[in-house]
Amino acid sequence: MNAHDSERVAGLLEDAGYARVPEGATPDLVVFNTCAVRENAADRLYGNLGHLLPSKKAHQGMQIAVGGCLAQMEREQITRRAPWVDVVYGTHNIGSLPKLLERARERREAQVEFEETLATFPSLLPARRESPYSAWVSISVGCNNTCTFCIVPSLRGTERDRRPGDILEEIGQLVDQGVIEVTLLGQNVNSYGSEFGDRLAFGKLLRACGQIEGLERVRFTSPHPRDFTDDVITAMAETPNVMPSLHMPLQSGSDAILRAMRRAYRRERYLTILENVRSQLPQAAITTDIIVGFPGETEADFADTLDVVRQARFASAFTFQYSIRAGTPAATMDGQVPRDVVQDRYERLVALIDEISTEENEKQDGTVVEVLVAEGEGRKDAATRRMSGRARDNRLVHFVPYPPSADGSGAGAAAPRPGDVVTTRITHGAPHHLIADGAPLDVRRTRAGDAWESRRAAAASAASTATAHGGATPVPVLLGMPARRG
Ligand code: SF4
Repeated sequence: MNAHDSERVAGLLEDAGYARVPEGATPDLVVFNTCAVRENAADRLYGNLGHLLPSKKAHQGMQIAVGGCLAQMEREQITRRAPWVDVVYGTHNIGSLPKLLERARERREAQVEFEETLATFPSLLPARRESPYSAWVSISVGCNNTCTFCIVPSLRGTERDRRPGDILEEIGQLVDQGVIEVTLLGQNVNSYGSEFGDRLAFGKLLRACGQIEGLERVRFTSPHPRDFTDDVITAMAETPNVMPSLHMPLQSGSDAILRAMRRAYRRERYLTILENVRSQLPQAAITTDIIVGFPGETEADFADTLDVVRQARFASAFTFQYSIRAGTPAATMDGQVPRDVVQDRYERLVALIDEISTEENEKQDGTVVEVLVAEGEGRKDAATRRMSGRARDNRLVHFVPYPPSADGSGAGAAAPRPGDVVTTRITHGAPHHLIADGAPLDVRRTRAGDAWESRRAAAASAASTATAHGGATPVPVLLGMPARRG
């Protein structure tokens, strides 16, 4: 969600006349879009702000803005601890950023602005999309749940739902621009519709996405087991472009801990959902989030988590060691678990998950998968001469992109582009990815690949114009550090 907010910030700034500085140049503006979920987020922010101070002093007129969840949490403290920050804005007023920057410049004093409720739905703001083939689409913001470990509701507010027509229109426009995959975003996508009184709205939205011509892949995150109803499973199964993958946060396998977390489902309900998903979508890969060492967690509670993990057979899991988040109810609960105990349980959990995901991935050996080629998914691709992307079930696949050639380099063959679709056979299942080391069975060039190629050509032409003009021509804003034009 934060990555998508950054796309909105970048789009907004680009609309206001800013452009990204060339690599290595000193920017006129630095925006930090912060997240408060991770431990030490505040320390890292103040550390980064401190590092920037010498550049700010040396570069007259440079501005620094801080937004996102941590800004919402820290508020005025940021300008107290780092008085060289120019703008602090909250999660509800991203749209005010250009205006606040201007005001800070004119008045020569820091501007701090927070709205208590959402003024403009972020999806109404312009966006500068990071990927030309795959896009995030917000369907709701905020959350009506009160999980005791979570800071989100107090920082992002209660759930606000976008109208289905707005969402479908945005997806239609993205598809027209070349996008073939969308991920629907919400803190709890399954409660989508609660604001406008339609409990079946999410399943209907999935089915409506199935009607959009040219949209090949639909994903969503995150569902919540409490609200995950059978109509959604059926909509997934009956809508061919909804992908057979499900990220279903478990958090704990112990009913006592789920109660303490204020998660309104129990282990049996969770396992029943997975059973229902697998009966309708046998090929679905299911992933999860688990917190270890929540206050009061006993060895027996932890054993319950291991037991659910064994039964659920997750394709992979994000595992977290519980640590105190100031401002959450769990922060002051009795029974905080000692660090060494948390560490020990964490290691046992990770070992079990790795064992199961390896077994599940090994079962993929010999299967044929369709991979949407991605950019930046395989760190070792250059060394291994592979490319990477996601299978329909969202497993990461590193594959050989070329048909065999005499010297094994694939020279002469047209390489698939990010956004193209490659069909290949899996030759090895590792714990966190799949390998396909045979020649691809099919390479389908797509509109998304064309869009990627056009964007690359535009960037190359901007760069060569910049070189011809002594590096003065700005390139479009992406994520990161924009500089003001002119
Ligand atoms: Fe936080 Fe998710 Fe719980 Fe909402 S459902 S309170 S976002 S953990």
